[in-house]
Amino acid sequence: MKKIPFVDLHSQYLSIKDDIDRAIENIISETSFIGGAAIKNFEEEFRSYLGVNYFVSCANGTDSIEILLKAMGVGYGDEVIVPAISWISTSEAVSNINATPVFVDVEKDYYCMDVKLIEAKITSKTKVIIPVHLYGQPANMPEIMKIAKKHNLKVLEDCAQSHGAEIQNKKTGTWGDCASFSFYPGKNLGAYGDAGGMATNNKNIAEAAKKIANHGQLVKHNHEIEGRNSRLDTLQAAILLAKLPHLKKWTEQRIQNANLYLTKIKASSIILPQVRLESKHVFHLYVVRTKQREKLQQILTGHEIQTAIHYPTALPFLACYKNRGHVKSDFPVASEIQDEILSIPMYAELLEDDIQIIANILNQQ
Ligand SMILES: *Cc1c(COP(=O)(O)O)cnc(C)c1O
Repeated sequence: MKKIPFVDLHSQYLSIKDDIDRAIENIISETSFIGGAAIKNFEEEFRSYLGVNYFVSCANGTDSIEILLKAMGVGYGDEVIVPAISWISTSEAVSNINATPVFVDVEKDYYCMDVKLIEAKITSKTKVIIPVHLYGQPANMPEIMKIAKKHNLKVLEDCAQSHGAEIQNKKTGTWGDCASFSFYPGKNLGAYGDAGGMATNNKNIAEAAKKIANHGQLVKHNHEIEGRNSRLDTLQAAILLAKLPHLKKWTEQRIQNANLYLTKIKASSIILPQVRLESKHVFHLYVVRTKQREKLQQILTGHEIQTAIHYPTALPFLACYKNRGHVKSDFPVASEIQDEILSIPMYAELLEDDIQIIANILNQQ
C-alpha cells in the first residue's frame, strides 16, 4: 500500500534543494541573522508579486493581524467582525489587542464570511471587518468593500491561506485597507519555521506596522512608541526568497490537482469544493463534505492516506469563547459543516496516480 501524506514538504525541498541549501549557507557564512539584504529583498519581491505599495515582514501570520489592527488604531472597546470558521488566529488577534471579535456565519457553498449577515452585526463600536479567504477561496470582496464603505469601516484581509488567489482578476490582499500573510511551513508559500507579513497601499498603516513590529523604532534607538519584537528571521527570508519564484507554478499545480479530484471523485455522498464566480481558488486545502466523516476518515487512514479537519470546532463554539453563550442556532451553517468537513491531501507535488487512488476509495463509498 502506498502511503499518501497530507502535505509533502520533503519532495518540494528536493525539487529546489540546491537553491535552498545555497540560500541558507549564504546567511550563515555572512552571519547576518537579523535584518539585512534578504529581508529587504523578500519584502520587495513579495510586494511586487502582490502589486501593492508596501509589504512589511514580521514573525508570523498571527502577529501580522494583531500589528495591523494596532496600526489602524483599533483597541479597547472596539469590535471587529470575523467569520465563524477560521483558524483561531483571526479572532485571537482581535482579543489580544483588547478588542472584541464578533462572529458572522459562513456561506453554505464557499465557507467564507456570509456578506448577507454582516450588516446585522455592525454596531457603533465596529471598526474593522476581517474576511478570511478560507482554504484558498477568495471571500466576496466586492460586497465586503461596499459594506465597509457604507459604514465607514476598515477591512483587513486574512490571506494566510490565499497566496495568489484572485477575485475579478484582482489578488486577495489588494482589496482591503491592509492584508495579513502567513508563511507557516504548510502554507502555499511556506518558510522552514514561522514567518509572516503585512501588505497595504496605505503609507500610514505601513509605517505604523513596521514600527510596532520592531520595538517602536523606524530609526535605530529612536523608540517613538513601545512596540514589540516581531521581526522576520533572516534565514526564513532567504528561504522564502528562494521559493517565491516557484509560487506561480505551484499554485497552478494545486489548481490542476483540484480539477483532477473534480473529474475523478464521483461519489454522490461527497460534496466537493465549489469555486466562486469570477474567482481563482488556490486550494491551500482541499476540503470535501460528507455526513459520514468519521467513517470516511477511518477508511482513508486504513489505506494510509492522511487527512485532517479544518477545523473540528467553529470559532464561536471553542472553549475559550464559552462565556459568550453562543448556541448552534446562532451559526447554523458553521455548526452543520464543522461536523462534515474533511481535508484530503493537497499540494503541488501530489501525483495524478495518488489522486486516482484516493478517488477510487471515495467512489466505493
Ligand atoms: C495559518 C493561519 C494564520 C496564522 O498564521 P501563523 O503564521 O501560524 O501565525 C492566520 N489565519 C489563518 C486563516 C491561518 O490559516
